[in-house]
Amino acid sequence: MTLIGKCVRLTPIKMKKPIQKNKKENISRLNHVESFYNYSSLGEIDYYSEYDCEANGCEEEGICRCRKIENAHFEKIHFNKVFEEFYKFYRTQFFINGRESAFFPYCLHRILTNFKVYDPTYWEVAVHGGYYGEEIGNVKPINLEKIKSCLDELFVLNEENYIPFVLKLEYGHILPRLDGSKYSVEEVSFDKIISANEGYRKKVEAGIYANNYPNNLPIGVYEKRGDFYYLIDGYHRYVDLVIGKKKNFKVVVAFKSL
Ligand SMILES: [Zn+2]
Repeated sequence: MTLIGKCVRLTPIKMKKPIQKNKKENISRLNHVESFYNYSSLGEIDYYSEYDCEANGCEEEGICRCRKIENAHFEKIHFNKVFEEFYKFYRTQFFINGRESAFFPYCLHRILTNFKVYDPTYWEVAVHGGYYGEEIGNVKPINLEKIKSCLDELFVLNEENYIPFVLKLEYGHILPRLDGSKYSVEEVSFDKIISANEGYRKKVEAGIYANNYPNNLPIGVYEKRGDFYYLIDGYHRYVDLVIGKKKNFKVVVAFKSL
């Protein structure tokens, strides 16, 4: 190895770089999801088909074009897939200084969960006319407008307010002990995680995460005290995902900086 031509600087030059704080990618307004046409990947749809071929002349033509669709609805939602679709759509719009906020995917998932997109009864299924009678059209969450305005609100926040925003969305307020907290995303080991609220059951979300939570997403918000991480948000994710599953988990950590 030769050092010829290599400049070794003994004293670092102090350069003041202007800090661009949370500069979003020159987007003043978010472009929004309006509906999804690829419904079959998002869940399982059920409906009745009704035909009156005689009255509609299908037999003369030899092709049935009279199908009427009744009661089209989702029986099941693939929440991971729905999350992925939203995530793909919004991801780059939420870039800050050319990179993704570690909190954004978590916040998006919390917003979608809050508006119950995992629940098939919270979806609208449109029906439209096709060459062979009615067919399934686009689908969208019933709460899509609320999801959009929530994302608009998140978009204008500084990154450090992302987690408080979704906590407030879910619980209506921020725990006083979180006042002044900072947040980070860390990988922590199972034996450092403490769920103080063992008796707590939030029925609506029970079990929805068992095999249906995106890989690599933080599983909850935990407060760091000493060497341990105390659960603040994500009890059911803790039950469904943590107990006996893996050794390490990504979590959002709330901590006080001195
Ligand atoms: Zn027909």
